Amino acid sequence: MAFFQITTELAPIAKVGGLGDVVYALSKALLREGKPVKVLLPYYSFLNKKRLTPLKEVYKTKLRLSDKSFFEATFFSTYFEDIPLILVHSDDPQKAFSRDSIYGQPDDPYRFLLFLFLVHHYFTNVEKPTLIHLHDWPTAFLAFLYKSHLTTHSPDDPKIILNIHNALHQGRCSRKFFDLLGFDSELLLANPCLQDPDTPTLINLLKSGLCYADALVAVSPTYAKEIQTEEFGYSLAPTFCKYSQKLFGITNGIDLSYFDPAKDHALKKPFPSSFEIKSVLSAKEENKRQLQKTLHFQESNNSPLFAVISRIDEQKGPRLIAHAIDYLMQKDAQFFLLGKPTDPSLESLFYSLEEKHKHTKRFRFHPHFDEDLARLTYASADFILLPSHFEPCGLTQMIGMRYYTIPIARKTGGFADTIIDIDDPHAKEVDKTGILFSSKNYSDLEHALERALALFHNQKRKEDILFHHSLQDFSWKNSLKAYLKIYGK
Ligand code: ADP
Repeated sequence: MAFFQITTELAPIAKVGGLGDVVYALSKALLREGKPVKVLLPYYSFLNKKRLTPLKEVYKTKLRLSDKSFFEATFFSTYFEDIPLILVHSDDPQKAFSRDSIYGQPDDPYRFLLFLFLVHHYFTNVEKPTLIHLHDWPTAFLAFLYKSHLTTHSPDDPKIILNIHNALHQGRCSRKFFDLLGFDSELLLANPCLQDPDTPTLINLLKSGLCYADALVAVSPTYAKEIQTEEFGYSLAPTFCKYSQKLFGITNGIDLSYFDPAKDHALKKPFPSSFEIKSVLSAKEENKRQLQKTLHFQESNNSPLFAVISRIDEQKGPRLIAHAIDYLMQKDAQFFLLGKPTDPSLESLFYSLEEKHKHTKRFRFHPHFDEDLARLTYASADFILLPSHFEPCGLTQMIGMRYYTIPIARKTGGFADTIIDIDDPHAKEVDKTGILFSSKNYSDLEHALERALALFHNQKRKEDILFHHSLQDFSWKNSLKAYLKIYGK
C-alpha cells in the first residue's frame, strides 16, 4: 500500500505559498498516523541537495518526444526530514525543471505535463500506487491519464483525490504542449472534460482533474461552496456544481512544530510554551523592538504595528492594502509589507507609497520572499492585515494567531471558517479571535482598522483576545481525520 502526494511545491525546500506548507504538513501528519506516504516532486535544479539525504538513484529510463528527440529521466529516492521523497529528474531539451522559479514561465503547462508523464511512467514501471493525491492544476491531468478511455481500467486502479488550493489558476493551455509529449491533441480537444469553457481551442488542465478524480477537496468548507459560483469558480463554476457530490471542503491545518513560537530560531525572544499573559506580552514586545530596529522604525510599543506577509497579486487585495497604508500613516501606526509582487506595476505601487511616506519612518516595503523575516514579523506585529478578494483557506491568519497576532481579514473562504469576529454577537466569547469585514469598500476597511486601533488601546480586551488565540487548535488533527475518511472511501 502506498499513498502518493504529487506536487510542484514542498515547504520549505520548494515553496511559493500555502500549497507547499500543506503538502509538508499533511505528509507529516499522515506519517505520524503510520500511513505509508511518499511525495513526488520535480527535481528542481535549485533544490538544496544538502537537505536531501541519502539521495539514491532508483530508476533510469530513456524516453522519446514526438519530435524524435530522446531524453533521459532519472528517479531518485531521498528524505526531507522524515518525509520520503521521489525526485523526478529530466534532461529534456527544454530543461523543464532547471529554472530559477517554480512558476511563471510561458511553458509551465508543458513542464508540469512532462512531470506527470514521468510520474505515470514511474507508477507503471516501478511502484504501484494505492492512492494518488493531486494538488491544483499542475498535477490535475494525472487523473485523466489514469481514468480516461486512454488506459484500460482494473479494479485495483488507484483512488485519485484532487485538492483545489486555488481555482483561479486553471492551467489553460495550447494543444502544442500535448503534441510534443505524443498525445493526439485533436482527440483531447474533442473531449468536453478537457475543453476550456471560455476558449474551446485550449485545454483546461484543472477541469480534466475535476472530471476524472474520484474525490475533490477544496481547502475550506466556505471555499467549497464559493467555487460553485461564478465569482469564485469562474467559468468552471458549472463543472464544480456538476461534481458537487464528490466535492468536499476541509480546512487546512498548520504544522505546529514547523510554526512553533516557543522554539522558533528566527525570533529574538521565544513565546512561552503555555499561555501566561505577561510572558506573551514581553515576548511580543521584544520581538517587535527587534523588527522595528531592522526596519529603522521608532522602537516603541506605543504604536500599533500592522503587517502583511503575502504573495502580492490581485487575489490578495493590493488596492485595499495600499489604502490601509495611507490610512494608517495618518494614525501614528507602523506598517510592514513583506511581499513579493507578481507584477511590476504592483511593485511600483508599493515603492511609490514607500517614497510618499518615507519621512514618517513608519512604513517599509520588502518585496522578497524571506522565511526568517516572515517569522519575526508574525512574532512582532500586533495585527496582520488580510484584505483578500478571495482566500481558499489562508494559512497566514492561523500562523499569525499562533504567534499572538490579531488578524484583520475580509470575510471570505477560509478566513470566514477560521476567524471569529471580536464583536460577533452570536459567537461564544472564547472563540473571538480577530476582526472581519465583508465588502471591498474602503469605508468598510477603514471601519475595521478603526476597530483594530481601538482594540490596541484597550489593554484588557486585547489580552482576552490573545488568550483566545492560545485556545485555538490549528493542528492537522481534525483535518487529517476528514482526509482519512475520504482516503478510506
Ligand atoms: P497563498 O498560498 O495564497 O500564497 P497562504 O496564506 O495559504 O497563501 O500561504 C502563504 C504562505 O507563504 C505562508 O506560510 C506565509 O507565511 C508564506 N509567505 C507569503 N509571503 C511570504 C514572504 N514574502 N516571505 C516569507 N513567507 C511568505
